[in-house]
Amino acid sequence: MRCQTETPRDLRSLNAEEAEDLLSGWGHKSYRAKQLLGWLYKKSVGSIDEMTDLPQGLREQLAASFALQPLKLAREQCSVDGTVKFLWRLEDDQLIESVLIPASIGRDGSQSDRRTLCVSSQVGCAYGCKFCASGLMGYKRNLDASEIVDQVLAVERWRLSKGTWSIGSEPLVNNIVMMGMGEPLANYDNLLRALEIFNAPWGLNIGARKITVSTSGLAPQIRRLAETPQQYHLAISLHGATDAVRDKIMPINRKYPLEELISACEAYQQAKGRMIWVEYILIDGVNTGLEQVEALGDLAKRLKCKVNLIPYNPVDSIQLKRPSDGIVSQFRDALHHLGVRVTVRIEKGTDIDAACGQLRLKSEKKFSSA
Ligand code: SF4
Repeated sequence: MRCQTETPRDLRSLNAEEAEDLLSGWGHKSYRAKQLLGWLYKKSVGSIDEMTDLPQGLREQLAASFALQPLKLAREQCSVDGTVKFLWRLEDDQLIESVLIPASIGRDGSQSDRRTLCVSSQVGCAYGCKFCASGLMGYKRNLDASEIVDQVLAVERWRLSKGTWSIGSEPLVNNIVMMGMGEPLANYDNLLRALEIFNAPWGLNIGARKITVSTSGLAPQIRRLAETPQQYHLAISLHGATDAVRDKIMPINRKYPLEELISACEAYQQAKGRMIWVEYILIDGVNTGLEQVEALGDLAKRLKCKVNLIPYNPVDSIQLKRPSDGIVSQFRDALHHLGVRVTVRIEKGTDIDAACGQLRLKSEKKFSSA
């Protein structure tokens, strides 16, 4: 958890064991822990005072020892296709993003009731991928587990405040991808605690198979994640199928070159018995050549993985271009011809700043020039 001397720990990073130990240590009955967790993760309250079935004395004890600091909505952008991008303001005034993507059609083309939230793990990012708006900002800090968890809870509060989304009492978010701002595996301990809260029956109760961790290629942490018992889904942001191309656009590759990354992915697959997804952003003239198709085909067959192609979504102040539809189709067909299972991402939110980090980047410029 984030170590802060000036700010008490946020309640929304507690797990069941800690809640039980804490409350029994204060002399309360064991069922109080269940009530507390319910207020935090099922009802998503914004303050300790709203926990009306907890005794006043317990609420005072909680308020004296912990914080409960909900994310504040700084801005929202709604796309005509239903995608909503949120810009959240944290207690220290930093800004982070989450994107809600309601899918009526799944990746395989079937009907889907998946409502995905793309969640951030850090403020900014240290990894400096050349195509990424988050990388442009540099690294500011890790998010605390509570700040990761509250992105999902804040969307539920937003939905209640709007009175929209007629899905009854079901939670709005039923699928999570750790694919927003930051490299999730570089914030490993906070990530793991947040995933535990997402997944646990006392938490948000979202199945591990509906939780995806996406990484730019931190090989040692992939191996650590392989040792956890949960079946979290792993996606690799590959974006280059040879070291030469990857070195150019993803500095992480110089630390963990492709062979090291792919062998960590094999260890993950072996431990979990689950298929990995490879994400590949197509950038015009950078990673769309025939040699990349062949190298990507070899890697995909070695991993027996699916490849998701994503035509580059241009970012202001980055001089990289989106390839034409013809190049995207050629790349897809050539991979398909090699026997690789490949899809082209159905684009969402193209009328808003949906690429990771863009809304924050634009908002920061706007706020700083205001
Ligand atoms: S793509 Fe991911 S790892 Fe790379 S700079 Fe952006 S947020 Fe960081």
